[in-house]
Amino acid sequence: MENKKRNPAIASEFKFENAQNTSGKSYARILTGDRPTGPLHLGHFCGSLKNRVALQNIYDTFILIADVQALTTNFDHPELLRQNIFNVALDYLAVGIVPEKSTIIIQSMINELAELTIFFSMFISINALKHNPTIKTEAKERGYKELNYGFLGYPVSQTADIAIFKADLVPVGLDQLPHIELSRKIVRRFNELYGGALIEPEALLSEFPKLIGLDGNLKMSKSYGNAIFLSDDFDTIKSKIKTALTDKSRIHPSDPGHPDICTIFSYHKTFSESNLTKNIEHDCTGGLIGCVQCKNNLYESIKNILIPMNEKRQYYKERTSEVWDILFAGTNKAKKIASETLREVKENMKINY
Ligand code: ATP
Ligand code: MG
Repeated sequence: MENKKRNPAIASEFKFENAQNTSGKSYARILTGDRPTGPLHLGHFCGSLKNRVALQNIYDTFILIADVQALTTNFDHPELLRQNIFNVALDYLAVGIVPEKSTIIIQSMINELAELTIFFSMFISINALKHNPTIKTEAKERGYKELNYGFLGYPVSQTADIAIFKADLVPVGLDQLPHIELSRKIVRRFNELYGGALIEPEALLSEFPKLIGLDGNLKMSKSYGNAIFLSDDFDTIKSKIKTALTDKSRIHPSDPGHPDICTIFSYHKTFSESNLTKNIEHDCTGGLIGCVQCKNNLYESIKNILIPMNEKRQYYKERTSEVWDILFAGTNKAKKIASETLREVKENMKINY
């Protein structure tokens, strides 16, 4: 199809109609998900979860808990996956993902994904994977000298995730754009080789920049030990906020502060009401408020966001089997779609013996 460089759709501007006819479905499907490598944090909330809660009202939303992909880096601890899957599901339900609108899927239970990944891997070159800028950055961050086959190939397996459910749209941050371009390339190639069974997905670009971590240096991430988790209790959150770095040049509360370089102020901009944020900016710059008070205000803002989430979390925490039932129901529904796509794929490849 088209080869020219496209601009990705911006989430808030994306027109529903754009996607309507690509799949022949009555409304567009999105695929998104997380690797269950630990609890989700405020960075996930701002960068993807919040958006998903809104998107599920407009799109047929599929959310993949990518436990196989978690193994690409955490293959030495598969025994942690069960608990991590459960905790990620709790995080989803707590933020307001609802099973009536979003299909939550456990990746490893859809074995068709492995088959489709193998078929794709026949015609994607190793160089295309090695030169993927996101893979390069991640490998560097993780200190990998040599790349495992599974890690190098995770964008191929992600393509299978998207393609098998016939997703039209994939909500992503900027770092994920190279993967979507690759997915489009793989799908195009598949369709050229065997006939057009698969849908070329579009990226739905999230506008939110990365949330900075409590260290004020790196993005908030589980691996960097600089995160506030959605499941942290309030005392933990309070003490984490206390440790966060502020404007170093400020010794006394009456010293004029520089909100523009302060991590805590960047959190206010994200989590506090705009009036409070304005007042803090004014009072900090004028040396009228100290960092302790400012941090307390932030704590209250974050707490207010988390209170309704904690209620839902508590409800589901006490109903473990209900949570697993939601996961199994989503997975079963997804499995039917996956096996139908794989049937078509094999038919197109003329290997439907
Ligand atoms: P890991 O340590 O396992 O890499 P992580 O905490 O860095 O975990 P990822 O699983 O790498 O989180 O992130 C998945 C997606 O969540 C990202 O592609 C991005 O969309 C979103 N995300 C993660 N961290 C942030 C952040 N700090 N700010 C905004 N979005 C984020
Ligand atoms: Mg990461």
